[in-house]
Amino acid sequence: MNRFDPLPAGMRALPTDERGIPVPWFVDWFSGKPDFRVVDGRRLIEGWNRDLCWICGKQLFAFRAWIVGPVSMINRCTGEPPAHPECARVALLNCPFLSNPHMKRSKAALPASHSGGGELVEHNSGLSSAWITRGRGGELFDPGNGPLFRIFEPHKVEWFCKGAAATDDEVHAEFECAAQRLRDIDRRYGPAALQNLESRIAACSKWLPERGSGDR
Ligand SMILES: [Zn+2]
Repeated sequence: MNRFDPLPAGMRALPTDERGIPVPWFVDWFSGKPDFRVVDGRRLIEGWNRDLCWICGKQLFAFRAWIVGPVSMINRCTGEPPAHPECARVALLNCPFLSNPHMKRSKAALPASHSGGGELVEHNSGLSSAWITRGRGGELFDPGNGPLFRIFEPHKVEWFCKGAAATDDEVHAEFECAAQRLRDIDRRYGPAALQNLESRIAACSKWLPERGSGDR
């Protein structure tokens, strides 16, 4: 759990909580205490507009890492702006909300992952990724219920599961599980919605690792 060493340069300047854990830049504070479940909405827009890392708050460089689970990946849509790849890796290895599938953020901070049908699908697999793009890699839009980011084709994808690098089998199993959940929802919206979903799933499949047997 304690894999903060060495911390990326940007994160070394972050304040720490009473346990000594760095408090990400996006976290909101209440009466002098950080609430890790709550995203500071103003920083979401500020970070994007000023091209700052979502985790350390410092200027981004050529590559950006979007922390996304399989549902966000399939929908190419996430509620949170990108971070430095090295800051994202620290979060993916340590953040309990990303590494523990049984932990849920408060409603206020849920990553707004929507299926094609517009229903909220809570991200509850342990699988997450650093979806690394070159350049800005996405765009901000508002579908009517708050800001979201459309994410573009990545430069590469790094996979994590339950606080560690994911095995190929974990990636395939969890990805398929998420795809099936979306199919179960979109089936109700008819064949066109389902076909649209299948093409989005197929577009993501190329970013899954080769299986050990090579039977992709
Ligand atoms: Zn950073």
